[in-house]
Amino acid sequence: MPTVQFNSAAFPLQENESVLDCLLRHEQKIAHACKSGVCQACLVKAVDNDATTQAQKSLKPTLQAQGYALACQWVPEQDVRVSLPALDECAVTVSISRIEPLNHRIVRLVLEVNADGQMFPCYPGQYLNITNAAGISRSYSIANHYAVDQCIELHVQHMPMGAFTGWLFTQARVGDILHVRGPAGDCFYSNPTQETFPMVLAGTGTGLAPLYGIVHEALREGHQGPIHLFHGGVTSRDLYCVEALRALESRHPQFHYHASCLKAPENLSKEDQQSNTVEVGALDEVILRHLDAGSIAQTRVYLCGAPELVQLLRKKIFLKGAKSSHIYCDPFIERRVSAAA
Ligand SMILES: Cc1cc2nc3c(=O)[nH]c(=O)nc-3n(C[C@H](O)[C@H](O)[C@H](O)COP(=O)(O)OP(=O)(O)OC[C@H]3O[C@@H](n4cnc5c(N)ncnc54)[C@H](O)[C@@H]3O)c2cc1C
Repeated sequence: MPTVQFNSAAFPLQENESVLDCLLRHEQKIAHACKSGVCQACLVKAVDNDATTQAQKSLKPTLQAQGYALACQWVPEQDVRVSLPALDECAVTVSISRIEPLNHRIVRLVLEVNADGQMFPCYPGQYLNITNAAGISRSYSIANHYAVDQCIELHVQHMPMGAFTGWLFTQARVGDILHVRGPAGDCFYSNPTQETFPMVLAGTGTGLAPLYGIVHEALREGHQGPIHLFHGGVTSRDLYCVEALRALESRHPQFHYHASCLKAPENLSKEDQQSNTVEVGALDEVILRHLDAGSIAQTRVYLCGAPELVQLLRKKIFLKGAKSSHIYCDPFIERRVSAAA
């Protein structure tokens, strides 16, 4: 069987095994998360050999040219040698400048590029791969425009027993150094011919982060078509940035913010009950109530967050008449953790 050479040792591959699975089976320390070729946490460099097209296909051309590949997507048929990514080649050093609560389990994480570094171009709504000092890498979506704000804003939800978010919520401090790679993802606003297509954006939890960035970018670019943003939670406690989005709505008549939650009105806060501004119901039902059948074929749809919900919404909105080429999705695929972990 072919082998994977890594850290001066050769590890035999099993049939149809990826480089990542082989290294993990041999208890090698290598960053990884989604194992689906999405999060790009398992980036490796091919040494003295070429990676497969499949292992490189979702990477930027500059990384491809330097021999980088995703270990989870690389199933070698002959011996290969890989090394961990050289941070100075493919990552930007940033430091934490702010961590502030957005709701009971989500924080805004603001990162600044260190003085000697330069941020690569990235659009609001794309995602970055962030690595902490312990070598844990995870993807987070960009909620703002770096070129405008000169900082990166991320919204991060605390996951029970999560390795990265556990560190962020209990140990991370202002000034801590992180490494950022990216960007990736095609969920961003692009309208070079200044069309007035309607936009529908939907997500729950921190699925709002990329959508928040996309909405602000569309309005900053002067988008004139109607923009409907749907953010759902189980209760109104799960919503966040509500005031900021309502303020944006009052400044831009083409922008409509729809907050919704699953639980009945008695679980809503007093303010929400009084103002009747939070709709009750499953997010898919709330969206379908508002979709405009007359313009759905022209509508651009952006869906982010929990993978099952993104899949469900994609199917339902497609069946209502949206073109599949107009539906942009970023499912937040997580590392699979076995019950015994
Ligand atoms: C394209 C993309 C964009 C993303 N954007 C964002 C974003 O903007 N904001 C955001 O908050 N997240 C985002 N994510 C998700 C993010 O990358 C991480 O997956 C998430 O933060 C969890 O990381 P973690 O290390 O804390 O959890 P991990 O350690 O990776 O754990 C994964 C899951 O398993 C659970 N778990 C861990 N250990 C155990 C155990 N022993 N028993 C049972 N369950 C366990 C955790 O609760 C968690 O739900 C995105 C993901 C992708 C792929």
